Amino acid sequence: MNIYNPSTNTVIATVKEDTDQTLQKKLQTLRQGVASWRTSSLSDRIDKIKTFGHLVRNDIENLAALLTSETGKPIQQARNEIRGAQNRIDHIIQNASPWLSPEHIYHNDTISESIRYEPLGVIANISAWNFPYNVGYNVFLYALAAGNGVLYKPSEYATLTGQAISHKLYQAGIPEEVFQVGIGGASVGQKLLEMNFDGYFFTGSHHTGQKIATTLAPKMVPVQMELGGKDPLYVMDDVADIKQAAINAAEGSFYNAGQSCCAIERIYVSESIYDEFIHYFIEEVSSYPMGDPTKESTFIGPLTRAEQLDTIEDQITDAVDQGATIMIGGRRVSSQGYFHQPTVLSNVNHTMKVMKQETFGPLVGIQKVRSDEEAVDLMSDTPYGLTAAVFGSDEQRALAVLNKVNTGTVYWNCCDRVSPNVPWSGRKNSGIGSTLGYQGIRAFVQPKAYHLKH
Ligand code: NAD
Repeated sequence: MNIYNPSTNTVIATVKEDTDQTLQKKLQTLRQGVASWRTSSLSDRIDKIKTFGHLVRNDIENLAALLTSETGKPIQQARNEIRGAQNRIDHIIQNASPWLSPEHIYHNDTISESIRYEPLGVIANISAWNFPYNVGYNVFLYALAAGNGVLYKPSEYATLTGQAISHKLYQAGIPEEVFQVGIGGASVGQKLLEMNFDGYFFTGSHHTGQKIATTLAPKMVPVQMELGGKDPLYVMDDVADIKQAAINAAEGSFYNAGQSCCAIERIYVSESIYDEFIHYFIEEVSSYPMGDPTKESTFIGPLTRAEQLDTIEDQITDAVDQGATIMIGGRRVSSQGYFHQPTVLSNVNHTMKVMKQETFGPLVGIQKVRSDEEAVDLMSDTPYGLTAAVFGSDEQRALAVLNKVNTGTVYWNCCDRVSPNVPWSGRKNSGIGSTLGYQGIRAFVQPKAYHLKH
């Protein structure tokens, strides 16, 4: 399998894809290794994960350069991701023990009732490329801490990073017998679905997630999905600082060239501040340096996948044909790499694809609203349910809106952020189950109830 650099469209490496035989061998290795891993002490497993964190941080320049080379993520953002993902490790260090230890629930003179948390066994983790450290750690580090074996299939667009992560895990003392990497694209992912894992944890698009869930249903094993989004932001007329709101919203839309599951993909603005908001928003977007992702100053790099350029062009054409106005951008950049100008559309509405379908690129539509009720209706008019944000001065007013939207996460005066302290979960087409938070630790264990009569 060839690995491409998306900023130059050149092959930077060639790796050997897994076959049925090599995958079966990896699963066998994991089955043997997990027996002693699950009975090893939790503190030993956590110590190894802690060491892994040190090794990654000490090699951040090489790892960031590798991530940039295969995904096109600007180098500053690559470093930010790797550095930021350490918060998952800190969360595990602080919380795995309280949330994985046995719980004594009830006792009287004759009976005691308690719960023990047992690992699932050997799990498959089929993952995405856009934040391979963040979304990878959310699954495989928590799974390992809980005593599971993991077959990690990084996205075909983040393969080298997946391999580099596995080397660091081994260096940190995590046995090869409990962590294996599956190399390849969709067909290798499909092969994993035919094998007998004790749980499947998927991060990727709704389209793939639905296929995977359908295929796995007869297996009757835990299946968890972190899928796409069409995340809205509503800017209220009482927002304290319109310019700052526009700057924050633009970053939420265009960070990582909009290739975040929780990127702001549609913006609703109160009509009284609409023009001023758009003015500052465009001013901000026009200041974003685009180009070579290895340059320190670059904010917008190429898209990771060439096909995404067609999706963006299709959404822009569809919107413009129906009356939208291009405020900035609008075109792919003629270069060898997969670059698209950051693009802002106004005069948009919900008959347009740009306001309904996941874009996953540097494109956002801004729509005028006349009331909080209209904003709630528009924010809710989506099959997705990942996050929703409100910017405004009045917390109670903002919460009244956020309480009505059906998403796993809501933000007031912030957006596009993930914290390990609280669960990360999508509703509707955005997923099933949670990573992070205590729910995200418990996702990798199964409770066993003990009734002990004395
Ligand atoms: P994708 O669905 O194309 O691929 C995801 C993974 O599935 C890859 O490893 C791929 O090789 C594998 N795959 C593809 N087809 C398969 C099949 N039929 N059977 C088994 N495996 C298969 O998604 P992507 O392009 O890697 O990631 C982008 C998507 O992921 C976006 O929709 C984004 O919103 C979403 N995402 C969600 C979260 C979240 O936390 N909710 C985080 C990151 C990305």
